[in-house]
Amino acid sequence: MLEGPPNRSRTDRHRMLERIRELERQALELEPDRGERHAFRDPVLAYADRFLEGLEGGKAYEGDLAGVDRLRDAPFGEEPADVDETLQVLRTAVDAPGLNPAAPGHMGYIPGGGVYASSLGDHLAAVTNRYAGIRFAGPGAVAMEEMCVEWMAELVGYPADAGGDLTSGGSIANLVGIVTAREARELRARDFHRAVVYLSGQTHHCVEKALRIAGMGECVLRRVPLDERYRMRPDALDAMVDEDRAAGRIPWLLISSAGTTDVGTVDPLDALADVAEDHGLWHHVDAAYGGFFALVDSVRPKLAAMARSDSLVLDPHKGLFLPYGTGAVLVKDRAAMAQAHAYQAAYMQDATRAGPAPSPADLSPELTRHFRGLRVWLALQLHGVAPFRACLEEKLLLARWFHERVGDLGFETGPEPELSVVTYRWPGGDAFNESLVRAIHEDGRIFVSSTMLDGRFTLRMAALTFRTHLRHMETLLEILDGQTP
Ligand SMILES: *Cc1c(COP(=O)(O)O)cnc(C)c1O
Repeated sequence: MLEGPPNRSRTDRHRMLERIRELERQALELEPDRGERHAFRDPVLAYADRFLEGLEGGKAYEGDLAGVDRLRDAPFGEEPADVDETLQVLRTAVDAPGLNPAAPGHMGYIPGGGVYASSLGDHLAAVTNRYAGIRFAGPGAVAMEEMCVEWMAELVGYPADAGGDLTSGGSIANLVGIVTAREARELRARDFHRAVVYLSGQTHHCVEKALRIAGMGECVLRRVPLDERYRMRPDALDAMVDEDRAAGRIPWLLISSAGTTDVGTVDPLDALADVAEDHGLWHHVDAAYGGFFALVDSVRPKLAAMARSDSLVLDPHKGLFLPYGTGAVLVKDRAAMAQAHAYQAAYMQDATRAGPAPSPADLSPELTRHFRGLRVWLALQLHGVAPFRACLEEKLLLARWFHERVGDLGFETGPEPELSVVTYRWPGGDAFNESLVRAIHEDGRIFVSSTMLDGRFTLRMAALTFRTHLRHMETLLEILDGQTP
């Protein structure tokens, strides 16, 4: 109910105005003038320069974690802290210990990098605080994100009117794809225990997590058998779907991988698309790791059938080397994506004035979000696509070269890399290979991670940071050579 104004005395009003003026003076602290801005900015930029200049020859992993405790020595106070001391805490507590994902020696998990141009995009996005959730509020920001999405759609062979969204990463992008597939097939809670998802033992774990978040933890997971190179077998999938249908289940969703995280292999996308089409499965391709390799001529044919999928995930913070916090999901049928995510609310009524085309908020679990498009756009504008393409091809060749050389050193190796991951282990027991990883971490110049393959402890080398070059690969080989009998 709307009420009229309270009946305040003249003195009360006066006191209130005094207080407002006093608070305004204090609030000014949050609006530094140009000189004060530069007093913040100059040491921060100098810090960034020093950080970048220390990468070559610096550590990719620091096992001494004592510095983390320094954070608690500098609690938030009522008064401002000194900028240099604050940056010193950042250095000691955050940027020294643990893994340095910006380092050229980061070859564990799936690396990325963090191109500098994107950091400037982030700076501008934060300063202007453009609203990229709703077209009405940020028509240019939304158009910029759409331009980035369209560029990615074209890369994977989707139509220009495909739906898409820039997400925080691959996990949320997979969630959006799965929720869209659930709604597109009109699955309801009563169906979930009969709905079948086909994936493999190499599917990224975020898919199962997304299914649970989507309320579908009870659905039937079918692990399609793999061939000798850890790729999903289309013939086996075909037989499984027949079996499930005969048993009264609902074959629903196929999740294939264009670049598995563990071994970097690409599922046979074209043959899988045939099976998916035959049986009316929603085909979702998780190309979070490998999708951007489509920029490289020699890999494009292997990835061409991404175009035949219904939805697809890319991770620009991996294959485009952008800073963490940039994923992407594409859905061929934009209406299906909107159907699964769009909502209306009375307080949003002005927002629909910008027309019927869906805003990012209509295609995403998020409403207000970081203006991610600017970091993508600025990096692609300021560098052009060519160096990204070159970096990816370089990683591809580095991985092949490493695969050969590590074999020469006496290691057992996994399949010749399809993309840029190489698996290898020293012949003998798990214990030695475990100690090998520990020794590499202790050395710290290069960071590699490990996995279990066929029940055995296995080392991985993943080349994807744009900063990783031949000399860093040589350093890893040198360390491996020094640690083996
Ligand atoms: C990294 C990865 C994910 C998860 O993406 P995040 O950006 O880490 O959330 C999903 N699938 C594959 C194949 C990946 O490599």
